[in-house]
Amino acid sequence: MAHSGVVIIGAGVGGLTLALLLRQRGITAEVLEQSTELKEVGAAIALGANGVRVLRHLGLGGTLAALSTEPSCLIHRDGRDGRAVATTPDARWYHGTFGAPFGGLHRVALQQLLAGALGPDHVHLGSRVTGLDEDGTVRCASGAEYRAGVVVGADGVHSVVRDWVVQGAGRDQPVYSGTSGFRGLVPAELVPHLPDPGALQFWMGPGAHLLHYPISGGRIINFLAVIDGPARWTAPGWMEQAPPGAHLRPFAGWHPAVTEMLSAVPQSPRWGLFARRPLNRWHRGHVVLLGDAAHAMLPHHGQGANQSIEDAAVLADELAGSTDIAAALRRYQGRRRVRTRQVQLASWAASAALHLPDGPGTRERDAWLAGAAHRLAWIHGYDVLGGGGMSEVEASRVAGGGGMAEVDVRPVTGGGGISEHDSAVRGGGGMAEVDVRPVTGGGGISEHDRAVRGGGGMAEQDSAVRGGGGIQAAERAGLSAPLSAVPLGAGLASIR
Ligand SMILES: Cc1cc2nc3c(=O)[nH]c(=O)nc-3n(C[C@H](O)[C@H](O)[C@H](O)COP(=O)(O)OP(=O)(O)OC[C@H]3O[C@@H](n4cnc5c(N)ncnc54)[C@H](O)[C@@H]3O)c2cc1C
Repeated sequence: MAHSGVVIIGAGVGGLTLALLLRQRGITAEVLEQSTELKEVGAAIALGANGVRVLRHLGLGGTLAALSTEPSCLIHRDGRDGRAVATTPDARWYHGTFGAPFGGLHRVALQQLLAGALGPDHVHLGSRVTGLDEDGTVRCASGAEYRAGVVVGADGVHSVVRDWVVQGAGRDQPVYSGTSGFRGLVPAELVPHLPDPGALQFWMGPGAHLLHYPISGGRIINFLAVIDGPARWTAPGWMEQAPPGAHLRPFAGWHPAVTEMLSAVPQSPRWGLFARRPLNRWHRGHVVLLGDAAHAMLPHHGQGANQSIEDAAVLADELAGSTDIAAALRRYQGRRRVRTRQVQLASWAASAALHLPDGPGTRERDAWLAGAAHRLAWIHGYDVLGGGGMSEVEASRVAGGGGMAEVDVRPVTGGGGISEHDSAVRGGGGMAEVDVRPVTGGGGISEHDRAVRGGGGMAEQDSAVRGGGGIQAAERAGLSAPLSAVPLGAGLASIR
């Protein structure tokens, strides 16, 4: 490699995974982390086959499996009467179909697994980055300076590197979804009314949903309760102390398992759920974005960390194989931009689909969910190490249930000097047009294909992808056209 080294800003899942993948290829990276100890915020995290595949490639599969709990299946329920709306095949099916397991684990355990594998020598804790220069100089609040051939901004949803890359002068801020979440870890025995405690489940209802999955061998249940509101997020950070009972009121009259779970532990702070607008340009000079810094998304597909891991695999691949850094970064961006944008949009749309009021929209959503296991193949079956897409074997297994799509991207505008942020805000060009060709059988075009093509009520969401407006347009689609939200989104959420 022609550059003098790599500095990674942020020791989250994305930054640490990248450092490990680079080391595997003989490239040493220095990781700068603002925290003085590695202690991921948040309760638990779920990794899908698309992320687990990469950690296995790093030789971490055994330890990861020991730390993780595989849910028995995915169940969507009506939140009020508890009726199972849709149930996927079991964990063995998931593993066999997508080539790796799905698992939930403590966030801190995942971060320590990655940091432990890397070792302390190249992780610089207490190093808050405050400035960057074109020549690859990185300045920390402590006064320390680093010089690198490549600087990677893996510094999360509130990224300072992103602001530098898009030259946003603070205008390119995270977008508040109008929803907020409460999280908790509950001993399973405190939820006696919970059916199928080993499953990952969504309890859906008007204006709210509850997601939970088992960790620690099923002894603990991790939940995320999401509610509509507050309409505006006014707290200075992304967490605030909500009034007592704020997490319970939207679930009044719901199934006893729901209220039992929410009441079993003290109310957590309220998390505002934020995303980032899709970016066309992920790098400036030799400074490049990765993970949430590039494409923070809502958590309803459980994909933020998984997408960061996929990014890391592609960036390591491009950097290791190239002496032309600028070209490597362009190829990285080209390989990641549409995929992450699709998952971002799908996650945004899922938010609305999970909270639909009773009516025809919910009936259509529920019918769609019956095929969710197959329709999620485009997320979970993605083999980033194999260059994207599913392996032929995996694809043929899934094909019978809805077909797979091959995604092709045709840029419809040139670079033209306009910053990505500007283009998103103006709703103008600079966005990519997505075209989809079904590559396997399975009885015609899949929902996902239709979603991306713009058929079947997806016009608004499609235009969000094609014509600019990014997440703002997706928001309109998700909120105003219930069914348009379903094909890419509905409760597809985290898992199978
Ligand atoms: C409620 C909720 C549930 C979720 N559940 C899931 C899930 O089940 N599965 C999943 O895949 N994803 C999930 N996500 C998303 C996931 O948490 C993120 O997408 C993922 O952590 C992003 O990884 P990252 O490495 O890009 O950023 P982060 O994990 O945010 O790491 C960024 C790091 O950069 C450091 N940093 C920031 N600024 C600076 C600076 N100036 N200098 C130095 N260091 C800095 C931070 O301290 C941090 O350690 C969830 C998110 C939420 C909100």
